[in-house]
Amino acid sequence: MEANIELNLRPISDDKPLIIAGPCSAETEEQVLETARELAQYGIKYFRAGIWKPRTKPGGFEGVGAKGLPWLAKVKEETGMKVCTEVAKREHVLQALEAGVDMFWIGARTSANPFAMQEVADAFKEGGKDVPVLIKNPVNPDLELWIGAIQRLYNAGINRIGAIHRGFSAYGKHLYRNLPQWHIPIELRRRIPNLPILSDPSHIGGKRELIAPLSQEAFDMGFDGLIIESHCDPDSAWSDKAQQVSPDVLNFILNTIALRDTACTTESITLLRQQIDRIDNELLEVLNKRMRISREIGQYKKEHSIPVVQTGRYGDIMNSRVKAATEMGMSADFMKALLSAIHEESVRIQIEIFNKH
Ligand code: PEP
Ligand code: MN
Repeated sequence: MEANIELNLRPISDDKPLIIAGPCSAETEEQVLETARELAQYGIKYFRAGIWKPRTKPGGFEGVGAKGLPWLAKVKEETGMKVCTEVAKREHVLQALEAGVDMFWIGARTSANPFAMQEVADAFKEGGKDVPVLIKNPVNPDLELWIGAIQRLYNAGINRIGAIHRGFSAYGKHLYRNLPQWHIPIELRRRIPNLPILSDPSHIGGKRELIAPLSQEAFDMGFDGLIIESHCDPDSAWSDKAQQVSPDVLNFILNTIALRDTACTTESITLLRQQIDRIDNELLEVLNKRMRISREIGQYKKEHSIPVVQTGRYGDIMNSRVKAATEMGMSADFMKALLSAIHEESVRIQIEIFNKH
């Protein structure tokens, strides 16, 4: 087991949890200010907006660049919020420091690149200001690379450091845009226990509807805060629109998730029970969806005079599901009992449809 790393860190903020919200990208002065005003009304104290955007392919919106910096200065002046932006090069750091940006984050493509990380770390040293810097995990699931990026900043004299878990790239289509692989940030916590870790549910999930459950999961695991993308008009965002929420929705999400007192370990059983409650709700949703489909199949069978029960199909379902369940470590008897109860209910629903005139 790798040894702990001792870093003499100072806090990045007094807020527990620390919530940072704002658009993926600064697009126009109006969009930045409108979003900031709405967020400030809901009590958000840290505003994020990407000025320089690393894009996978050329031709995408690469950010407004330095001309967006005065917009962030206006946000500070008008709302009193602290402003945060992403930096990836020496001149980004120097220009943003000069413009009074309060907090910085290093993107996942930059933290994966030691040359870029060193350049950014050196620029912070050159800029000579005492600012907090958050480091996103590298795109690839490499904890040592993440730790290396943290050490480069620390060695450059930055001691208000935080980490952001934004998930890890994977080839192909998945539920998540970037797979959470929670064990990696948890191992980071073991290695550097005093390092605050935030989660970025927007970039992990890639979809609005995943922000709430991913945020809850982060708090359940003792994360110190969240960075969430929020836009005054998410559907017309110039980047990452599927994962941005309006300030209203963000406020709703933050009010629904239960914040945990991470110091209180005796709470863990309650936490586990709450997870069970959530999973049970998900099970109900899934069952209900299955029954809705059964109902549609029932309607089709009725219209085409096909009998409700088809033993071949039922046998196939049983065999394949029981096999999969035993491979996962559940008992065959349990799975048979569960499937036969579900099947019974599907048959009941379809017979109801047959008997309807
Ligand atoms: C962002 O925060 O908008 C961003 C570009 O994130 P990441 O580096 O996690 O892709
Ligand atoms: Mn984004």
